[in-house]
Amino acid sequence: MKIKHRFAFNTKRNNIRLFLDKHGIKYKAMHDYSIFYLYDDNDVFDLINDFMISNNETSIATPIYTKKELESAQWLTIKSGWNSLYPQPINQPSYIYTTYDMTNYCGGNPNLYNEKIGEWYREHDLPFYLCEKGLVQKDGFVLKKEPNWGSRGFTMLFWVTDELFISPKTEEVLNNNLRGIVYFPVYNKSKKMFDNVKQIYINNYVNKGLCIDSIERIYTCPICGFIKYWPKIGPIRFRKEIFENIDVDIVKTTDKFWERECDSLILVTNKFYKTIINAKLDRGLFFEPIELI
Ligand SMILES: [Zn+2]
Repeated sequence: MKIKHRFAFNTKRNNIRLFLDKHGIKYKAMHDYSIFYLYDDNDVFDLINDFMISNNETSIATPIYTKKELESAQWLTIKSGWNSLYPQPINQPSYIYTTYDMTNYCGGNPNLYNEKIGEWYREHDLPFYLCEKGLVQKDGFVLKKEPNWGSRGFTMLFWVTDELFISPKTEEVLNNNLRGIVYFPVYNKSKKMFDNVKQIYINNYVNKGLCIDSIERIYTCPICGFIKYWPKIGPIRFRKEIFENIDVDIVKTTDKFWERECDSLILVTNKFYKTIINAKLDRGLFFEPIELI
């Protein structure tokens, strides 16, 4: 694995441009800001990275795995980089209320708007915090239209970052090869089922088992005490015993992630990964190996 860093800076900052020119780093001007990419194994990475940090410019890091690392992993995370549609309805009543059972939901301590007095407020005299714990899917997602699949086989929705939606071709491939794949229908706004898109309904969960050395940050809800994580970059480590009795090819983690969302990671077996690669349905997908400890 190596890490790809994306740096962005204001094109008007001459000192940065001069420094990059001096060290032979090519950057691309996009209107008023410029971007460049640098891998962490580049000889000048530390020099450039330190310089950028000293100029208050930090990078966005993405791990890049070798084919061998991906092919040899027992379990991998899966995400789609292609989000083309929003869950409906996007206004009130929001899709949150129509798609999920919210009996055990906790919103945390969000900023709320009081229309009568035109002011923002928070319900509790505590810091701003988004929890999002306890959403349980009760109905199929509603979309404006079917995804325009082209050569893609998977998509995710904006705002919903732990559910996968698939094309009919993908469904056929999954059904022929893999275990534990069930689906939720997807509807149009008149609640008629779409023919060309389904959601993979992932109702198998592995127990909590995130290893402490994979945790970058911990978030604790000031209202309900629920804990979420931000993982370190690189293969995320889980205790291997949580996978011992799993006999399906796709699961979700009980451990929840991210600062503003409360997402499970979606994990798939090596067999799932290879089935998708062999069927050439991986366009737009990101896989990351996980490590079992
Ligand atoms: Zn909470």
